[in-house]
Amino acid sequence: MPRVADQSPSSDRRKVPRAPKSSSEATTKVMKANKRDNTKPELLVRRRLREAGLVGYRLHWKAAGRPDVAWPGKKVAIFVNGCFWHRCPHCKPSMPKTNVEYWVLKFELNQERDMRKIRELEEAGWKVHVIWECQLKKKVIDRTFEELLPVLAEELDKSLAR
Ligand SMILES: [Zn+2]
Repeated sequence: MPRVADQSPSSDRRKVPRAPKSSSEATTKVMKANKRDNTKPELLVRRRLREAGLVGYRLHWKAAGRPDVAWPGKKVAIFVNGCFWHRCPHCKPSMPKTNVEYWVLKFELNQERDMRKIRELEEAGWKVHVIWECQLKKKVIDRTFEELLPVLAEELDKSLAR
C-alpha cells in the first residue's frame, strides 16, 4: 500500500499542552455541553439510518479513525463531527477569546487528524461521509438525510425503506 509522504512525521508528535482552566464562561459551557451530548448526534444519525432501512452497520469499527458508523463489507463509513472540536466549515464556530494559542493548536491537530483518517480510509477503498452536528438541527435534518440517504443506499446496494 503506497503511503502518502506529504505529512512530516513531526506533525504527528506535536503535543497539545494541558487544557487551560476555564478560559472563559462560554468556552467552559461549550466544552461541557460537548462532553455531555457526545452521543446524541450519533443517535440521531443511527435512528435515521434505521428508519430508512440502512441497517447492518457497525459502531466505531476498527478501521482508520474508528468511524462512528461503518458498513465494513461495503467499505462505507460515516463520521459524525461536533462542530466546535472539528471546526465545522458550515457553521464556523467562534474561536475562544482566551488561551488562543492553545485552541489554535488544538484545532489544527484535530483537523489534521480528521484529514489523515479520511485519506487513510479512502486509500483503502472506503467511501467516507462526514455529518456535522449542525446538519442535524431540527430545521435542516430532513434536508441532510434527503441528500445523504440515496447516496448511501447506492453505495450499500440497498433500497430505501421510504
Ligand atoms: Zn456546524
